[in-house]
Amino acid sequence: MDILTGLMIWAAEALTLAALLWSRWLYQRDDFYLSWGGGFALHGAGVALVALRGDIPDFVSIEIANTMALAGMGLWITGLLQFDNKPVQGYIAIPALIWVAGMFLNPVREDFSNRVALYNGAAMVGYAIMVGLLLRHNGASRTTRRLMAGFIGIQLISSGVVAAMSVVADAQSFETSPNAAWLFFPAAFCFIAGIMSGGKMLTERSEEKLKALAVTDPLTGALNRRGLIDEFHGLRSVDNAEKPLIALLHFDLDSFKQINDRCGHQAGDAVLVAFSKIGSTSLRGRGLFGRMGGEEFASILRVADMVEAASIAEAIRLTLKHQTIIAGEHRIKVTVSAGIALATVDGADLDLLLSAADRALYTAKESGRDRTAIDTGAEASIVPAADRQGEEEGPSDLRANHQVAALKRLAALGKR
Ligand code: GH3
Ligand code: MG
Ligand code: MG
Repeated sequence: MDILTGLMIWAAEALTLAALLWSRWLYQRDDFYLSWGGGFALHGAGVALVALRGDIPDFVSIEIANTMALAGMGLWITGLLQFDNKPVQGYIAIPALIWVAGMFLNPVREDFSNRVALYNGAAMVGYAIMVGLLLRHNGASRTTRRLMAGFIGIQLISSGVVAAMSVVADAQSFETSPNAAWLFFPAAFCFIAGIMSGGKMLTERSEEKLKALAVTDPLTGALNRRGLIDEFHGLRSVDNAEKPLIALLHFDLDSFKQINDRCGHQAGDAVLVAFSKIGSTSLRGRGLFGRMGGEEFASILRVADMVEAASIAEAIRLTLKHQTIIAGEHRIKVTVSAGIALATVDGADLDLLLSAADRALYTAKESGRDRTAIDTGAEASIVPAADRQGEEEGPSDLRANHQVAALKRLAALGKR
């Protein structure tokens, strides 16, 4: 097999891939499919024009053809950037620009072996950028990305070998060129293997998306019940001696049905979204927050003691209470009740925690709603509330002290 036939096979492969990627885009409108499809189409067409050397004008089979093949690499790089959600930058044009710049230098343009060296040098830069992008990413698909970087790395090296051999042998046509078929095979193998690992990367991305969907609540974007349960086990295994307890905070919006009845279901939804936002921002990454279903939410987190769990629940309750939620023409005020259950990390059982938090929540509702109750073993105790101390006399700092003292009494109760 001669090199020109090899190039034709290469071109056919690339064009088939372009068609596949573009038809994929019709189903799943991710820009990287367009870019990668465009990259293979340009690259394939460019390589095909190179293979037609002699049958078409030299300017087309040399200057234009190689520019196209290298611009195709630029589109592969573009696709990689889009795949990683990074901005597309000017450097994607470097491989093609290196070639175009070389064409302005007579000794390069007029000498076959110099042109082969220039093309392969430009391709090496393109491959190097791809390898860099594949490796400089710490997210998912790490193994597959490394594998793909390896295959592209081999192409980079064989381009280097071809460039060096071309200059050393100083051949003046493909027919007399020393970069014979034996070099074509590793490059072709790595081309295909690289594409296959790219396919694997896409599959892994889809699987990841599906997994994320399965644990996300579509309305609020927070974790759903399943997601919270999954993450619970992860939270248990974290080694954190300063926070030996695991706390489950169970929230239920008060008289939520009335909001739906009075303002409509859409306004109800807006309240759910607003509360979910309050919950997750109040936690500031200290734990998990999710929607258990309906107007019930939960937070699971590691805490040092009962006081810490109670103050987080209270912070969330008070933030909601003081917020006016605007939904269309409605200005909605709403409160929430919370039930807390705690367990030591070793002995934590999710079902027990859930039912204990539920009992505490029931106590909070029974005692008049808009408050937090903590399960302390036999029964649940209402957490003394900063916003309800006005019912007692005394200056505000005294009231705050009173709350801390009461929380401490509660904590002592829990330790018995
Ligand atoms: P309580 O203070 O005792 O908790 O009273 P409540 O009205 O909040 O409790 P109840 O369980 O009777 O009502 C919950 C309501 O939540 C009933 C249901 O229509 C509504 N709901 C559940 N899921 C959604 C949702 O996704 N969107 C909206 N808008 N409402 C929902
Ligand atoms: Mg409810
Ligand atoms: Mg409710």
